[in-house]
Amino acid sequence: MEEKGEQKHKFEMSRRNFLRAGATATALGVIGAIKAPVKVANAAVPSNVKFSAGAAGQWSKLHPEPDYGGATVRYAENNDQWLGTSKIVGTVKNISEADMGFALAARGLISDKAQRGFFNFVPKHPFGGAISWARTWIASEDAVDGQPAPEKLPIPDPEQMSQHIKDAAYFLRADEVGIGKMPPYAYYSHKIINPALLVHNPVEQCVKPFTERLPYVIVVMVDQHLETMLASTGYDGISASQSMRSYHATGNIAIILAKYIRSLGYHARAHHAANYGAVMGPCILASGLGELTRTGDCALHPRLGFRHKVAAVTTDLPLVPDKPIDFGLQDFCRVCGKCADNCPSGAITHDKDPVEHNGYLRWNTDMKKCTEFRVANEEGSSCGRCMKVCPWNSKENSWFHQAGLFIGSHGETSSKFLKSIDDMFGYGTEQIEKYKWWLEWPELYKVAPGLPPNPAAPPATSK
Ligand code: SF4
Ligand code: SF4
Repeated sequence: MEEKGEQKHKFEMSRRNFLRAGATATALGVIGAIKAPVKVANAAVPSNVKFSAGAAGQWSKLHPEPDYGGATVRYAENNDQWLGTSKIVGTVKNISEADMGFALAARGLISDKAQRGFFNFVPKHPFGGAISWARTWIASEDAVDGQPAPEKLPIPDPEQMSQHIKDAAYFLRADEVGIGKMPPYAYYSHKIINPALLVHNPVEQCVKPFTERLPYVIVVMVDQHLETMLASTGYDGISASQSMRSYHATGNIAIILAKYIRSLGYHARAHHAANYGAVMGPCILASGLGELTRTGDCALHPRLGFRHKVAAVTTDLPLVPDKPIDFGLQDFCRVCGKCADNCPSGAITHDKDPVEHNGYLRWNTDMKKCTEFRVANEEGSSCGRCMKVCPWNSKENSWFHQAGLFIGSHGETSSKFLKSIDDMFGYGTEQIEKYKWWLEWPELYKVAPGLPPNPAAPPATSK
C-alpha cells in the first residue's frame, strides 16, 4: 500500500510536470485571455444589477493594476437592493457583537465545552497566544479612536486622496486595500465591554451601544500565508496563529491610518479583531474586495480566496468609493461545495441556493457548529479547513492557476470544470511537508477545565 508521504509527493510531482507542459495552456485556450484587459463575463447574478468599469483612479500608484489572480471581474453599481452580488430582500438589522458566534460560546449558549474552550482556544498554542497578546496592545479605545485635529489640513481632491490612502496602506504592508461606501447596517448595534463578563452576567450588562455612523470604510487585507496553509491540515496547531498573524498586521495598519486621518482633521475609527465596531463581511463587499461564499458570511477575494483577515477604518475623509465586484463566485459556490464536503463540524450547508438571513440572501451555514468545533478542537488550535480546501486558495502563483481562476469566473459549466481539475490534483487536501516550519504541542490542546472569574465581581479581600 502506498504510504501517505509518497502520495503527497506524487501529487506535487504531477502538478510540477503539468505546470511545465506549456502546450496544455494552449489546449485550455486561456493564456491570451487572462493577459487581455478585463472583459465582461456571463451574468452570475440577475440582470437588474448594473455593472460598469471601475472608477478612474480607483487603483493606487504602488499597485496600479488590480491583482485578481487571473479571474474576470465586473464592477457592480451601488444600489439599495444589492450589496455587490448579495441580494437584499428586507431590512438588514444592525446586530449586537454579543450575538456573534464566539460571544454565544462565551455566554454558554452553545455548550459547556465551547464556553470553556472560547477562553483558551488561541493561547493554548504558545505561538498563537504570543501574537494574540501583541494584538491586545493595540485594542484600547485610545488606540482605535480619538478626536480629529481641530484644523483641517489642505488635501487633494477625493479621487487623488483615495489613491493616496491606498498607497499609504500598501506602504504599511497591506496585501489588498479597498474603499467602500459604509453600509449603515454593517455597524454593530452594541459592543461587548469584556468577554469574561458574558460568562457571569445578563447580556444587557455586558454590552454598550455603538453609535458611530461615518460615510466611508477603508478595508485592509493581509494574506494568512500560502506556504503555511499548504503544509497544515487546516485545524492543527498553527491554524489560530495564521488568523492572528493577519489580525495583528491589519490592526497595526488600521490604527496608523486612522490616526493619520485624524491628524488631517477628519474623523476616523479603526476596527480590528481585538476591537471591532463593525462586521467585516459587508465592509469587504462594499469596498470591492470580495463576494460572500457558501460558508455564510465569510467573503472571498478572487486572488487570496479567504486566506486573509481584514481590519477597517471608518471615516468622513472625502473619498471616492470603489465598486463591489462580481467574479462569478455565486455560480461557482452553487456547483462546488468542497468546503461543505470537508468541514469537520458539518457546519456548511449543501443547499443549492442561498436563503434569507437578517434581510439578505446567504448560504445557510450553522455558525454554532463552526464555533463549537473551533473553540473546542483538541487536535489543534481553531480551524481554517474550509479556507484550505477552497479551490480559490492553495495555489502557487503560476499561469496555470491564473488560467484556473479565469475559467472559474465564467459561469456554472466552467466552475464544474475547474472544480474537477482542483480535485484531480488533490488541491486543498494535501499537506506539503517541506513547508511545515512550526512546532506542535498536542498535550496543550485540551479545552480549559475552568472559566475566568467575573470581572464585575468585587475583588477578593486578602487575609
Ligand atoms: S472554520 Fe472549520 S468548522 Fe468552521 S466552517 Fe470552516 S471548516 Fe467548518
Ligand atoms: S469551497 Fe467551493 S463552495 Fe466553498 S466557498 Fe470555496 S468555492 Fe465556494
